[in-house]
Amino acid sequence: LDEQEAFDIEYWLLEEAKLQRMPKPKALAGRIAFITGGAGGIGRATAEALLGEGACVALVDIDSGRLDGTVKEFGVKHGKDRVWGTAVDVTDEKSVIDAFAAAARQFGGLDILVSNAGIASSAPVEDTSLDLWNKNIAVLATGYFLVSREAFRLLKAQKIGGNIVFIASKNALAASPGASAYCTAKAAEVHLARCLALEGAPVGIRCNVINPDAVLRGSTIWSGDWLKERAEAYKIEQDQLEEHYRQRSLLKLSVYPEDIAAAVKFFCTEAPKSTGNILNVDAGNAVSFTR
Ligand code: NAD
Repeated sequence: LDEQEAFDIEYWLLEEAKLQRMPKPKALAGRIAFITGGAGGIGRATAEALLGEGACVALVDIDSGRLDGTVKEFGVKHGKDRVWGTAVDVTDEKSVIDAFAAAARQFGGLDILVSNAGIASSAPVEDTSLDLWNKNIAVLATGYFLVSREAFRLLKAQKIGGNIVFIASKNALAASPGASAYCTAKAAEVHLARCLALEGAPVGIRCNVINPDAVLRGSTIWSGDWLKERAEAYKIEQDQLEEHYRQRSLLKLSVYPEDIAAAVKFFCTEAPKSTGNILNVDAGNAVSFTR
């Protein structure tokens, strides 16, 4: 190296070190995200992750008590002007339409929808009542349709593209014992996402799916009947379920709400060329569904 080259390299290294020390710009600064099931385990973790990247979040949930607590908590932590929420039943068309209009008024538009509100209620097929079947289809398939249709309308009108992320399930692709209604409704979500990806592509709207395996921590669906049904289906005690899922996974790791939130963030920030895709967040479980 001659003297000039050595000087250039040293100068470049110093500049690089300076850059490393500078605070990174927030990836979603000023973006507006609408999250359904925002009072639940995965919804809360997703809101926290997107707020951490500078987004504003509109949270909706059918459980108004837990939702109010969540909105207050995040408002204190991240600033009241960045968090808003209202009680919504995603199966109720009017309640969904009104909530999107109110969120858009509150923040001045929409960039991201995370469709996540869900229930887990099922039974062996011979014991599945029509009510139980319809309930799963209503919340999971129809609910995802109603919120994504509203998001689509808003995003299309804005003409700046956008992001839709569905939290489906490993059970969208793999059957699970005693859970035909849930699995079928989750499969419908995946196909709806593909249709949205197709129709959204010309106007810059992307739609991707995250399929989690069991996320027990922080989740309210993992209580009561679902916990009991799953334990019975696998012929184990309820308190052995988390370990059962961990052992079943390829990586021998449990999946947490923060892992799903990180995948949502990935689709909204680092994946501009992904649409109509499914990301399994399952510690490798999908490699072999039979294990
Ligand atoms: P959770 O029960 O903690 O959160 C779900 C939230 O949805 C709750 O706050 C609930 O009040 C809300 N909700 C239910 N019905 C609603 C309705 N009609 N309208 C509006 N809100 C409603 O559960 P979670 O683990 O956070 O699940 C979130 C999503 O992830 C669900 O779609 C679920 O099917 C999916 N998922 C979860 C797991 C898991 O093991 N936890 C695994 C795969 C997929």
